[in-house]
Amino acid sequence: MVYKTKAILLYSGGLDSTLALHILVSQNVEVIALTFITPFYNYNRESKVFKNIIGTVERLGCRLKTINLQEEYLPILKSPKYGFGSAANPCIDCRILMMKHAKKIMEEEKADFIATGEVLGQRPFSQTITYLKRIDSEADVEGLVLRPLSAKLLPETIPEKLGLVDRERLFGIRGKSRKVQLDLAKSFGITDYPSPAGGCLLTEPAFGRRFNDLKNHNPNFSLKDTILLKFGRHFRINDDTKVIIGRNKEENEEMIKYVEPEDIVFEVVEYKGPVGLYFGRVEESLLLRAASIIVAYSKAPKNTLIKVRFYNKVSFEKILETNAISLEGAHLFLIK
Ligand code: SF4
Repeated sequence: MVYKTKAILLYSGGLDSTLALHILVSQNVEVIALTFITPFYNYNRESKVFKNIIGTVERLGCRLKTINLQEEYLPILKSPKYGFGSAANPCIDCRILMMKHAKKIMEEEKADFIATGEVLGQRPFSQTITYLKRIDSEADVEGLVLRPLSAKLLPETIPEKLGLVDRERLFGIRGKSRKVQLDLAKSFGITDYPSPAGGCLLTEPAFGRRFNDLKNHNPNFSLKDTILLKFGRHFRINDDTKVIIGRNKEENEEMIKYVEPEDIVFEVVEYKGPVGLYFGRVEESLLLRAASIIVAYSKAPKNTLIKVRFYNKVSFEKILETNAISLEGAHLFLIK
């Protein structure tokens, strides 16, 4: 296949960016699909979404590049220049970061432009014309970002002016209704795509509440602290003490992967039960509170004293005995 032009597409695997991919391919554009991985987004390479991404890109004869954002993501979680959306989602700063990476790949690949599946007015926080322009200007890609689904509502971009893509065959979609996209999907034979809500954990209200609790009580949080928000039940024992209790075997195993030598792990001694992580002030009354919560979620009998062991890999070890707190009592400390 001889291509007349080459583009870098920010590709999430969702319906909109899949449509953008099809539109570009239908205009004989060579597309490099760029997928981002963060601790909160696309982090599971075994997921259906990720498999779909690989399948779609291969089917259309395109190339896939992935970029893994980890520590680099932390500053925008700590103090995003453009603030958060309705939960813990710093979408505008996140898009700027992604766009900067896309620009770098565009230059390395000698591509002509960048494209996205963004739809004007679909997300009130980040997809207004003002913010789309702001994202492009902060990433220094003004005029180089084609948004095929809403192009006819946006100023003409350089690739359109140069005739690298045919503006007449682009679209003028605006707003949240997906009707036009669904019709378009039919015409391209696209049948398998994730729901619009799926994807980024940072947009989920429950995650947002945990994140706000972390930010308010520990403004110097680390990336690990934010990753741990994904697992278990979180209990705020007091202003500087929090515990996390795994909800199942998978979560227990995941949580343990992030434990550092000084982190305190705790568990019921003689009965099966979850893994607990203890962060905060080491004081007997607080440890006992944490112990009573983990006993409540264990297989131990509830009306007798149960041993709970707290330890870390450095030198800390303490065994305390306590009864289980009632589940209603534990819920009073739950961050929900
Ligand atoms: S939804 Fe998540 S991945 Fe998407 S722009 Fe917002 S913060 Fe970034």
